[in-house]
Amino acid sequence: MKNRIHLSLAHMGGHEQKFIKEAFDTNWVVPLGPNVDGFEKSLNQYLATQNSQLSTLNSQPHTVALSSGTAAIHLALVLLGVKTGDEVICQSFTFAATANPITYVGANPVFVDSEDETWNMSPQRLKEAIEDRLQQTGKLPKAIIPVHLYGMPAKMEEILAIAHQYKIPVIEDAAEALGSEYKTQKCGTFGTFGILSFNGNKIITTSGGGALLCKTQEQAARALFYATQARDCAPHYQHSHIGYNYRMSNICAGIGCGQMLTLEEHIARRREIHHLYMELLKDVPGITVKQNPDEKSNSNFWLTCILVEPEKAGKTREDIRMMLESENIESRPLWKPMHLQPVFADAPFYGNGVSDHLFEKGLCLPSGSSLSNEDITRVVEIIKR
Ligand SMILES: *Cc1c(COP(=O)(O)O)cnc(C)c1O
Repeated sequence: MKNRIHLSLAHMGGHEQKFIKEAFDTNWVVPLGPNVDGFEKSLNQYLATQNSQLSTLNSQPHTVALSSGTAAIHLALVLLGVKTGDEVICQSFTFAATANPITYVGANPVFVDSEDETWNMSPQRLKEAIEDRLQQTGKLPKAIIPVHLYGMPAKMEEILAIAHQYKIPVIEDAAEALGSEYKTQKCGTFGTFGILSFNGNKIITTSGGGALLCKTQEQAARALFYATQARDCAPHYQHSHIGYNYRMSNICAGIGCGQMLTLEEHIARRREIHHLYMELLKDVPGITVKQNPDEKSNSNFWLTCILVEPEKAGKTREDIRMMLESENIESRPLWKPMHLQPVFADAPFYGNGVSDHLFEKGLCLPSGSSLSNEDITRVVEIIKR
């Protein structure tokens, strides 16, 4: 049996151990310290915006490093004051971690379908959903959570315009989109809050971790307060708010500091892999590789995705997935939309079949930055069989 090709694996750049050793040597084995500060600073610099018409940032976001991307979404909802009985609009076509935190604060998700071009939240469906919720409940949703799925930037210009019109804050789920750009601005820096994930299979990893991207220092300070058990300013332990234990550890942040040194290479390699798939699959009937829809979008291509039309391809998405698996190659159907998940069966949904279709026809191909061109060729040969 040939060696296993994974969908997306962590790729160490070689600098991580140095930061971890330093943390041990200086006894910073706690959820704060120089690596946490350094990691936040390097993210701020990396995400800083230049010359974007869309930007509401003057310079850099204020990043708070946390224990996971899920925790970051939860804290964003807490900071926005979302409470029991409120409604939050969420992209249906995503990983469950986008939607789950809505229920942690007792709120109810309202799911919105995707559009064909980016596979992300449809601005048209979003507007319909807001209007209809207003009609049905007399209230506006408390937040909108669009996602840049697989690294592909959502239509932020249109989504922000609608959010602005109804004065609804946006929590931008950029968990899969570190380094992706929309109109040359980094994904994660558009919303009232943005979130990143550093889980094991994302663009960079801290073994597990995430970040909340804030617009102001005050918001970041509030996020930090809630992330560290909401201690009042007193010599003893005193609490006037419910807090959380969500801060990133200094050891994990050390991995992050090391990963940041090779971030550009990781992303360049993912884009190269995507390009190679496009070249190798371009004349294969019934198979289309998802691409940037226009010059505004610059995906990091965290995962390269294909759609399979069985009539033309002579095989289904599942046929291909099983053929790859029998050759020890991991691939995965596109995310199953939240409106089709048993756990969210009762949630309202505004859509017209776009994400249902993507789930039925779509497959994620191995895209990790440590894969060789020979690995990609091996995958493509099997798809073509
Ligand atoms: C990974 C992921 C998350 C959650 O991040 P964790 O760090 O794993 O908690 C949220 N949203 C999307 C779209 C993701 O892919």
